[in-house]
Amino acid sequence: MKLLMAANWKMHKTGQEAAAVLTELGTALAGTSEDREVVVFPPFTALVAAAGACAEYPQIALGGQNCYSAEFGAFTGEISPAMLLAAGCAWVLTGHSERRALLGESDAFVGKKTAFALQCGLKVVLCVGESLQERDGGRLREVLFRQLEAGLADIPASTDVGRFAVAYEPVWAIGTGRTAGSAEIIESHGLIRSFLEKKYGENGAGIRILYGGSVKPENTGEIIRLENVNGVLVGGASLQAESFARIVRA
Ligand code: PEP
Repeated sequence: MKLLMAANWKMHKTGQEAAAVLTELGTALAGTSEDREVVVFPPFTALVAAAGACAEYPQIALGGQNCYSAEFGAFTGEISPAMLLAAGCAWVLTGHSERRALLGESDAFVGKKTAFALQCGLKVVLCVGESLQERDGGRLREVLFRQLEAGLADIPASTDVGRFAVAYEPVWAIGTGRTAGSAEIIESHGLIRSFLEKKYGENGAGIRILYGGSVKPENTGEIIRLENVNGVLVGGASLQAESFARIVRA
């Protein structure tokens, strides 16, 4: 199973800036081990320029940071999976905690778009994770299982499990500089793996589980060697090519 090294650029970078960073990243990643799969999630307006820059660097795939669960229509401000595919994306992120918290996305809404994106031919990284209050209240398992249950509700066992991944992103570790400790990561990834194996049987072992939350070049090596960690989803430290290239190579 290839490790999936993913960069979430959030609301950063114009098309020109994205193309410059991707060109630098593509050069820096030349000759990187083939056991690493790289995907970058730029903002929508930078996707076409990003795809142009990546044409020279096929080892970098692109993804959208969100999509809607309809082909087209009166959904102001939204974007469809087909539009992302046409802009050069292979992937999409769903359920990021910032969208759940700031934009009120419910578990069911996340599940609907996750299933629709997969049906339309995108690969999906579904994000799950607990808040500090939920963790401190002993609700880790309940929250993760609830988000997974709804997020994967319409994804049947027959789905090619290489087409989706789950990112465990504890809300308290995102953009805070506070990384979850090894024991915390192992516990949460173990819970997610048990859910996936229950739902998908043997195939559940092949679904990649990424860790996200203040990943940096300095801590990536330790994180990706933990049990059931099959890659990382990186925010802040992925904005510079040099830093993300060190993460990919860790
Ligand atoms: C993220 O938002 O997906 C993330 C992991 O951010 P950061 O790496 O900045 O904590």
